[in-house]
Amino acid sequence: MTSPKYRGFSRLVSCLQSGLLTQHRKKGEQIKKGMASGQMSRDEALECTHCRHACHVLLYSETASHLFGRIPIRYIVLMQMRFDGLLGFPGGFVNPSEETLEEGLTRELLEELGVAVPVSKEDHVESCFSPPRSGTYSSSSHLILHFYVKKIEEEQIREIEKAAASTAADHGLEVLGMVRVPLYTTKSGGGLSCFLSHSFIGVARSQLMNSLLRLHLVSPGDLQEALRGSQRTHAESAQNLQAALKLTGEQP
Ligand code: AMP
Ligand code: MN
Repeated sequence: MTSPKYRGFSRLVSCLQSGLLTQHRKKGEQIKKGMASGQMSRDEALECTHCRHACHVLLYSETASHLFGRIPIRYIVLMQMRFDGLLGFPGGFVNPSEETLEEGLTRELLEELGVAVPVSKEDHVESCFSPPRSGTYSSSSHLILHFYVKKIEEEQIREIEKAAASTAADHGLEVLGMVRVPLYTTKSGGGLSCFLSHSFIGVARSQLMNSLLRLHLVSPGDLQEALRGSQRTHAESAQNLQAALKLTGEQP
């Protein structure tokens, strides 16, 4: 599913990440072309037998509901608050020697959502090496992330949210709760921009932004606007945290 159109959309997000990549790059080190983003095909990924594999999915649906009776919600996009306090997508480690990637992902979804949402090869979007906290994107990271996107009905989303908070084995443990991504912007600038200013696991923020663009859930202009707002929110948060630290008696 890595069509030229998709690559075009992901260029915007890649630009945002490129600063990060340059930072990670050791002086004089040559990064192979395909490796610069850590991207590979699903089949190439499976050739790495010594790698660990993790699969995650963005589930979404259309909705006709309105916030405050006037702001169209348009789409419900599901994410989760993880055990580590970071936002991420449902899914987890898969063992390709025992199950297909998609079977493993469905197994993980049963544990985390309480519903065995079937995911197929057709829902696969991209596979890439997990960017280590420092250093280059390379096969040395040994963890390959597989990302999927699946459109479902609004009714199924409601079912998942109910099950995730009741029957799901991981509720209150690995998963603290499901969250919906606000795609709109309120008069006061809240919504997508505030959501994007939170902390995300690994490349989850990029996976979210790439998907919003690729699926035309948000326009590139609106996303740029939201990201500018996120940066302002982020700066304010940094100041708040600094003030909070002073309250605890810590000297500057
Ligand atoms: P999980 O069991 O869901 O935590 O995922 C398995 C592994 O993938 C863990 O090492 C996570 O830190 C990592 N991981 C999960 N989601 C992402 C993501 N969106 N980007 C990068 N790494 C991730
Ligand atoms: Mn997980």
